[in-house]
Amino acid sequence: MLNKKSVRDIDVKGKKVIMRVDFNVPLDENGNISDNTRIIAALPTINYLIDQGAKLILMSHLGRPKGEANPKYSLEPVAQGLADALGKEVTFASDDIVVGESAKEATAEMKDGDVILLQNVRYRKEETKNGENFSQELASLGEIFVNDAFGTAHRAHSSTVGITQFLPAYGGLLIEKELRVMGGAIENPERPFAAILGGAKVSDKIGVINNLLEKVDSLIIGGGMAYTFLKAQGYEVGTSLLEEDKIGLAKELLHKAREKSVELLLPKDVVIAKEFKADAEHRTVSIDQIPADYMGLDIGEETQQAFKKTIEKAKTVVWNGPMGVFEMPAFAKGTRAIAEALADSDATTIIGGGDSAAAVKQLGYGDKMTHISTGGGASLELLEGKNLPGIEVLEDK
Ligand code: AMP
Repeated sequence: MLNKKSVRDIDVKGKKVIMRVDFNVPLDENGNISDNTRIIAALPTINYLIDQGAKLILMSHLGRPKGEANPKYSLEPVAQGLADALGKEVTFASDDIVVGESAKEATAEMKDGDVILLQNVRYRKEETKNGENFSQELASLGEIFVNDAFGTAHRAHSSTVGITQFLPAYGGLLIEKELRVMGGAIENPERPFAAILGGAKVSDKIGVINNLLEKVDSLIIGGGMAYTFLKAQGYEVGTSLLEEDKIGLAKELLHKAREKSVELLLPKDVVIAKEFKADAEHRTVSIDQIPADYMGLDIGEETQQAFKKTIEKAKTVVWNGPMGVFEMPAFAKGTRAIAEALADSDATTIIGGGDSAAAVKQLGYGDKMTHISTGGGASLELLEGKNLPGIEVLEDK
């Protein structure tokens, strides 16, 4: 998947480029953009294409309008937000059917460097079904397709995959970076290569653990998912998160780690509480001391130190999933310690999307990481070693 062509490999001067971006930004109750990170993330590719003299037609989804027009999910405020960020006019084609009169008219009269944003592609029910007619309608507006929406690259939709039946397809700079940094780390990492996994469930990350055990030198497991592994090792975990039906699998994965000589690190001590509450009374105990009526909600100090030691030795680190219930300050220390260790490291540090990305940014370490993935689900699938449909359809180098 690393050998895909990007916008850098083609000549776009004077061409109509229809580009899938991820403008799925959070809106507040008044319909204002509350966080424009995704708009900012798309700017490098947008500016590059403008500078190269392309005529740029942008499309995105926003929320889940379930295949019908719904003003709550209109991209109109995003067109304004983008215009502000670019310092340049952005024409919003407001058709409820996405490719309607206003889109057709606006795209017919474009000059080099013009930017148009289409209405939410999920206003059309065919979008998420990868419907051929809608794919063709979208394609009819442009001459070249570019995908820069890594966050939806694991989905085969009209605006990510279907459209490529009708137009030559290339990656944007964001997708190029995701593939180079994250794809590159998995396929050809500088060693030692350490992966840190956390979050709630083992079941969500079985594929990731399985694939990473083939690639990494060290695998660090924290968060709620650690307790199923601890149970598999014979520890009593009280009322901690536990997936009974995955204990057997956890044993197999522990066995695989030994077979592959992967250093597998699990918590040695944990912060426990009786209740799942921000102000619950809590204390740190060794993992063989978890009382039957207590649950583990964070990794302890000793564990933080052990995890840090492995991180310090690594030349490549990939992290997905918090070490504890980081939304509650009392149980956020483990996640913070890992974020700090990564921020201090000279290694290539890659944060899978979702909660760990949010945690790293919230703690102010965003610019200390080599790369923070813009796609939660998509980055997990990349870590699983899967081929992403939205990437596979791009032209090969
Ligand atoms: P995920 O979406 O799988 O990455 O899981 C993230 C969620 O896991 C966060 O909301 C955390 O609060 C939660 N989590 C992490 N550690 C624990 C734990 N020890 N017990 C319960 N929930 C946890």
